[in-house]
Amino acid sequence: MHALNPIFLPGPTNLPEALRRACDIPTMDHRSAAFGPILASAMAGVKQVLGLSEGEVAIFPATGTGGWEAAVTNTLRPGDKVLAARHGMFSRKWIDLCQRHGLDVEIVERPWGEGVPVEAFAAALAADTGHRIRAVLVTHNETATGVTSDVAAVRAAMTAAGHPALLMVDGVSSIGSIDFRMDAWGVDLAVTGSQKGFMLPAGLAIVGIGPKALAAMETSGLPRCFFDIRDMLGGNYPYTPPVGLINGLAVSTGLLLEEGMEAVRARHHRIAEGVRRAVAAWGMTTCAARPELCSDTVTAIVTPDGVDAGRIVRHAAEAYGVAFGGGLGEVADKVFRIGHLGLMSDVMALSGIATAEMAMTDLGLPVRLGSGVAAAQEHYRNSRTAPVRAA
Ligand code: PLP
Repeated sequence: MHALNPIFLPGPTNLPEALRRACDIPTMDHRSAAFGPILASAMAGVKQVLGLSEGEVAIFPATGTGGWEAAVTNTLRPGDKVLAARHGMFSRKWIDLCQRHGLDVEIVERPWGEGVPVEAFAAALAADTGHRIRAVLVTHNETATGVTSDVAAVRAAMTAAGHPALLMVDGVSSIGSIDFRMDAWGVDLAVTGSQKGFMLPAGLAIVGIGPKALAAMETSGLPRCFFDIRDMLGGNYPYTPPVGLINGLAVSTGLLLEEGMEAVRARHHRIAEGVRRAVAAWGMTTCAARPELCSDTVTAIVTPDGVDAGRIVRHAAEAYGVAFGGGLGEVADKVFRIGHLGLMSDVMALSGIATAEMAMTDLGLPVRLGSGVAAAQEHYRNSRTAPVRAA
């Protein structure tokens, strides 16, 4: 059952056959001449996907969480102040990680469903005349609430305040799917994992490091060993790398760049818009507070009062063998999530929308079968482009 149906988790995402094969390679000596070009190709591909020209990429055998830890421990000192908004499960967890490392986090609380508060950040930066804030943290795409924040606007606020802090961005559920521009947005550190936009199994933490972050590594003082970026530079692994996944990453970046990052972004936007129209046709709302905050990789849907969103997720899995994302943290029972990133097409999305309708109808929600599907169909018909070649 599992293999027959696409999954609609906001990561891990569906695995293209070409990437399954790319990961499934015979054991190889990672110190041999054969591995070097594979790693170089993966790194060059990641740099292009990130929009990073000057700088480095580090690929750790870990997950996005390890990427957060690498970003923070390689560039900050114990007790350093960082500025962050808490507006969902992942921003909450990144803050927690910083606090466990002894950092002094200035937290701006926002309701879940809101984005990063640029004005509040601007005020905090302007008030910080002594430049005690060493890093500004942005969760680009809050996967728990389906909210995308404006990274460029945060950078503009930092520039306007003349603030020298590092800009660190969690792009775990945005990079490789929606617009992301490390150079153009002045992002100093970008963090992601292999299992979302790159369409691979989990297992790689991917960190883009800009020139200012590289310089900050010279004076950082937080303990680190496994995640020491200095040991990774120059294309040498200080330990045994997962060669299959890295080969997968080389092929994955090739697929993305062949489609073209602009086309990848447009595909995600078109698919997401169809899902949003389905949600509106069901008479339901997104957890994202306003349309401009709605994510193109995941839609978090608020269920009517008294309806436990978890039941929809469990029923869809049990009755139809389809995985949707459950609610997390503060919105645990209140939202379910349709992930629509990575290997995803209009037609795949329609099957997810249809399944959600069946599950909700089975459970007695006031949803008319076919209503969301029809709304999405109209959108996909009217906005269609050439189908993406099967990978
Ligand atoms: N940040 C965001 C936005 C995420 O969505 C996730 C995971 O879903 C993470 C961080 C943590 O990544 P991982 O589960 O790969 O450690």
